[in-house]
Amino acid sequence: MARKEDGGLGVGSLAGFNLALILKWKWRFFNSPDLLWARLIKALYGTNGGFFRICKSGVGMSPWSRIIAAEVKLHGSNVIKQNVLRRQVGNGQNTRFWEDCWLGDETFATKFPRLAALESDGDCWVVDRRDATGWRWSWQRPLTAGRTLAELNRLLELLNQIAWNDGEDRWRWDIGSDGVFSVVDTRQWIDNIVLQVGGSSTRWCRLLPGKVNILIWRLLLDRIPTRTALSHRGMEINDIMCPICGVEPENGVHIFSRCHVARSVWELVFCWLQIVKECDITPREMFCWLDDYRASANKKAVIEVVVCTVYWVLWRFRNDMVHGAGKLKRNILFDVIREYSFLWFCNRQVKVFIG
Ligand SMILES: [Zn+2]
Repeated sequence: MARKEDGGLGVGSLAGFNLALILKWKWRFFNSPDLLWARLIKALYGTNGGFFRICKSGVGMSPWSRIIAAEVKLHGSNVIKQNVLRRQVGNGQNTRFWEDCWLGDETFATKFPRLAALESDGDCWVVDRRDATGWRWSWQRPLTAGRTLAELNRLLELLNQIAWNDGEDRWRWDIGSDGVFSVVDTRQWIDNIVLQVGGSSTRWCRLLPGKVNILIWRLLLDRIPTRTALSHRGMEINDIMCPICGVEPENGVHIFSRCHVARSVWELVFCWLQIVKECDITPREMFCWLDDYRASANKKAVIEVVVCTVYWVLWRFRNDMVHGAGKLKRNILFDVIREYSFLWFCNRQVKVFIG
């Protein structure tokens, strides 16, 4: 599910998709505050719909409580920061000074509770507290206590960082490029953090179909469902021996390298490619050899496609023996490999000549 750069197939996770859809509700709630459902939520959960509060969510079992709980969990695990949705303040006419989260990752009412308690109008706009000369406060009584004054100093430090403009106030989603919420970008962001990251990027040959690339990906991760692998995972397997030769237990190395069918196919293939090479090597060693092989880019591409096709045809042959009717005969495997390699080259319009 992880990105190809991180060793996955880049298909994305359903869990990430689901969380992105949940977060979309937060975006819609703040961007459509006048819709009936949003007004209903405000009546039930407060003007911020229950967001931007410290863990008041998670109580209750309503769908909206669950949305907030999922959102809080994402913040708690540092996957999505609270301030990823933030108010971009322009003229300050449409942003509430204390109750909107517009600077930092909390509302000022949460961050500076002593000051908020002394404010004469808790619902005031940013523009109400600003004038040409600076800040225009309106306290219920003069600030004298040391802690309250300390809060005011911290608030002023924050406010001094702002670069003001005359545009309209709007909400901004900081994942993605244009400041607008996108399920695709948000899902990718979540997946990139949550999904397990492999050690190296996925080997992906654009000349080959996805099914072949996926087989190679599984092969290099040793995740081919051979009889030995299935037995190790606790499945009841009557016979773990190779279904082709019956001489050794069936595992990835045997089926693709050591089995006599595999060896005879590799010998024919290397002879065809005019390469002198021993055949009894693991798939991982085969790709290491290929990466280090000194040849032109075209020739390396040809060899890579043929090598991958060999693995794919050998796996098809094995599956045909185990599950199918045994239609794929071993004496035509080499011809099948040549046919498919050539077909895939032609389909992708690569101007190289093979065989
Ligand atoms: Zn065998």
